[in-house]
Amino acid sequence: PPESRFWLPLRAPQPLPAADSTQSSGLPLAPEAGTRDGLIEAIGPADAIRRQFPEEAFDEVIDCTGKCVLPGLVDAHTHPVWDGDRVHEFAMKLAGASYMDIHRAGGGIHYTVEHTRQASDEQLFEALVRRLQAMVRAGTTLVEGKSGYGLDLDTELKMLRVLERARRQGGVGISTTYCGAHAVPRGKTASEAADDIVQKHLPRLQELIRTGEVHVDNIDVFCEEGVFDLDTTRRILQRGKAMGLLINFHGDELRPMGAAEPRLKPPRARKMLDEGVVVALGSDFNPNAHCLSMPMVMHLACVNLGMTMDEALAAATINAAHALGRSHTHGSLEVGKQGDFVVIGASRWEHLIYQFGGHHELIEYVIVKGKVIYRNDSSENKEKTP
Ligand SMILES: [Zn+2]
Repeated sequence: PPESRFWLPLRAPQPLPAADSTQSSGLPLAPEAGTRDGLIEAIGPADAIRRQFPEEAFDEVIDCTGKCVLPGLVDAHTHPVWDGDRVHEFAMKLAGASYMDIHRAGGGIHYTVEHTRQASDEQLFEALVRRLQAMVRAGTTLVEGKSGYGLDLDTELKMLRVLERARRQGGVGISTTYCGAHAVPRGKTASEAADDIVQKHLPRLQELIRTGEVHVDNIDVFCEEGVFDLDTTRRILQRGKAMGLLINFHGDELRPMGAAEPRLKPPRARKMLDEGVVVALGSDFNPNAHCLSMPMVMHLACVNLGMTMDEALAAATINAAHALGRSHTHGSLEVGKQGDFVVIGASRWEHLIYQFGGHHELIEYVIVKGKVIYRNDSSENKEKTP
């Protein structure tokens, strides 16, 4: 990308009101930050930054007086490439049908798989771009995106190529995941499907990665009763790991394997946090759970899972980056890291979580590698500089 210099001068005479609580999450907010070549070059008090850099050295200066600058949000888990939404199943679910009930009745993932197999590259790409743009407007600057609605090799590769095209387009960062073991394809047993993946899908994928046709970071398997059991899951993940992919899998999502709970239970995030587990958040955007907004995910994590706002922000930034193997470049405002920021029109960052569904008004700028990729013209507190 072309060299891009960026400066976010906060002219407020003192640190942001939220600075202390944010620092406790290991996410320092700085009064001023500048980026060069897409990386954060300096963070510090306004005077020090002004002494270090003449103002004309910057392409763009944003007056952030009274606003907050946060690290770009990282969505650690999404399924963004598909055709065939499932709005018609939502009423069934509200009436008590479980994911597995719908699955057995021939709906669920297989409905989306049918549509995705038939969709053209162009249709899938356009839908993906629309979804990524909505995520960006909600503050996401790095997103994990999975294949997994093809199940057959050709459609899985079609999805990965669509993700690759979006990744090369720039803007929001994409961490790509091969998820061919998202469900057992019709007419196959889990063991046959796993053989197919290990013997055909992954070798072909390895070849395409080697030639540079696609870039894949992670591998995911849906490990669940009635989908892939522990043995087939392990077999697939080990093959993926051997070819250099990071493991990032679905486990215990619908109900813990072997447990008897009939209905979905929320994950025990509070217990995990108390026991020292590093928790990351993701929207899990997919046709069965249509959510593109990490601020809403953070709100739900606080209200439903008992997380504090600091924990939710860390889980949606540095921890999510860590889950994707990117915490050395993403997830916090530190010199040398990628210049990915969200600027909100409020003096306390907690508004981003507190105002449920309010991100459309709150988020004023989304910046990736020091370049504004979204400027909110509808925002009430509009920036004065162009
Ligand atoms: Zn998922």
